[in-house]
Amino acid sequence: MPLKIYINNKFYNKKDAKISVFDHGLLYGDGVFEGIRSYSGLVFKLKEHINRLYNSADGIKLKIFLSKPQLTKAVIKTLQKNKLKNAYIRLVVTRGPGDLGLDPRKCKNSVIFIITDKIKLYPQKFYDKGLHIITAKTEKNLSKALNPRIKSLNYLNNILAKIDAIKAGTEEAIMLTYDGYVAECTGDNIFMIKNHRLITPPCGIGALEGITRDAVIKLAKKKKMKFSEKKFKIGDLYKADECFLTGTAAEIIPVIKIDKRKIGKGIPGVLTQMLIKEFHNLTKKDGVKYAV
Ligand code: PMP
Repeated sequence: MPLKIYINNKFYNKKDAKISVFDHGLLYGDGVFEGIRSYSGLVFKLKEHINRLYNSADGIKLKIFLSKPQLTKAVIKTLQKNKLKNAYIRLVVTRGPGDLGLDPRKCKNSVIFIITDKIKLYPQKFYDKGLHIITAKTEKNLSKALNPRIKSLNYLNNILAKIDAIKAGTEEAIMLTYDGYVAECTGDNIFMIKNHRLITPPCGIGALEGITRDAVIKLAKKKKMKFSEKKFKIGDLYKADECFLTGTAAEIIPVIKIDKRKIGKGIPGVLTQMLIKEFHNLTKKDGVKYAV
């Protein structure tokens, strides 16, 4: 069965799922999106993703023509249509077609599309053995210039940092703020553990308020781990006992080397592994249920 794609209340076969070349989402990256996962018929943290999407849309003054319950239904319907119990869901809202000028007021009809498919971001060996990452040469956009809470279609800053990672032969790269603090990676939030304390940078300095990040913080607190949200530099990260990344697609992935320096013992840390286990348990129970 060909994959069915949702576009503005209709379903299309993959090969017929098209949007206009005049869509400002394409011309200018003018739009917002979410990456969501479903596990065994449960859409993980769907409410949180929907809320973040509407907040991102607010941030760019884009009105989503469906209500939150309507959009939630559309996501579920797309999963059901494709008979997918375990899926990666890409929910996108673009400014819609306009003319060749930037002016968003020229775009009269925004476009919503939903792709549900499979994703495997990293091979299993990285979960078992840990990931090597580098510090990107590309700095993070200034928060004052582009609010990091907005998950927009404009990912060039991150793509440039991803190219830094690829050039260095690694999968991910750490992005630093203009003043040298660790912000996040190109598609994931970052955590370190030092003396049994879990530490992650505050989002305000230039990180997306990740939904996996939030889930991990809550799990750590439940497990009575010490936790701080505070700024740190790359030198502090080199001296961490453990490090890991979080994201919807990546889930929790251990980091064992940064800029060729071994982190901790150079193997996935004990607390990281505990959090991975807890996170997997959470995905089995926390979400919006649907039948296929
Ligand atoms: N930071 C960036 C830049 C991202 O694109 C993402 C999502 N891929 C994340 C962090 C992680 O966010 P979430 O846990 O909500 O997927």
